[in-house]
Amino acid sequence: MTHSPDPRTLADVEEQELLDTVLPRFATRRDVLVGPGDDTALLRLRSGAALATTDTMVLGRDWLDGWSTGADVGHKLVVQNVADIAAMGGRCTGLLVTLVADEDTTLQWVSDFTDAVAAAAQAAATAVIGGDLSSAPAGVRMVSITALGELDSVAPVLRSGARAGDVVAVCGTLGRAAAGLVLLQRGTPEAGPDLVLAQRRPAAPYDQGPRAAHAGATAMIDISDGLLRDAGRIARASGVRIDLDPAALAGDIQALAPALDTAEAEECVLTGGEEHSLLATFPIGSVPSGWRQIGVVGAGAGVTVGGREHVRVGWDHFGSAKTD
Ligand SMILES: [Mg+2]
Repeated sequence: MTHSPDPRTLADVEEQELLDTVLPRFATRRDVLVGPGDDTALLRLRSGAALATTDTMVLGRDWLDGWSTGADVGHKLVVQNVADIAAMGGRCTGLLVTLVADEDTTLQWVSDFTDAVAAAAQAAATAVIGGDLSSAPAGVRMVSITALGELDSVAPVLRSGARAGDVVAVCGTLGRAAAGLVLLQRGTPEAGPDLVLAQRRPAAPYDQGPRAAHAGATAMIDISDGLLRDAGRIARASGVRIDLDPAALAGDIQALAPALDTAEAEECVLTGGEEHSLLATFPIGSVPSGWRQIGVVGAGAGVTVGGREHVRVGWDHFGSAKTD
């Protein structure tokens, strides 16, 4: 357990001292032949191909220190990267972690971030295999993970394989992280502490990615930018139309209703990002347990809800919400 917070900042320590406090926190795994501390890591791969993805979070854009601790940021960064590996049907084999921070960043923040990354990596059955530390101008702090992964004897599940006649299914919750953000923005986090927790520390059903692949999923994505937008990515890549069933989403909307009004709850379920649940299409009769059907794939283009278009479609990093 922590005692009093460490008051020192990065201005007070040498890089080697920082590395000496950070590196021992990362557990290793059998497939990591060379871990952190040498020029690169060396990984044993069982299959002949590697999955690779990266995701970055920037202070002031992707988190606020007033709303999220270093531990929250570390946890979320791991989840969003490993969820991308899972969404291909893969398992994560290693994480490379980069921290770029100004000298006013406290050692306590770095320590909290590091411990959370280590814990979340372990929870995802993977390991931190290396990374980078760099200083930054005043006010700048960003963290990034590059995740590596592999597939177990199945083809990767791409966004482009959905076919008319397939069903659409989701594994995990919908709209909870977005609802938590609404409560934080409103200054009423006490109205839904579990929703705020979902925003700060999302949970992704990693094992269900490979499971869906084995079950014959034809397309898959993790819900990072909202159900409508991410379903739209599958629809576009596959050249199909996805129609979501309002009745199948009613329970998700109702689950948010105590903290939000119904219209807000519906907006969170349809367009809320950062949830990291998995969305996939399957041939009829192939939906594995743990998944629930929320729509169907048909001929055409775009995403509809109960046959009708919805106007707003989620978070776009480089612009306001737009329909696509
Ligand atoms: Mg993704």
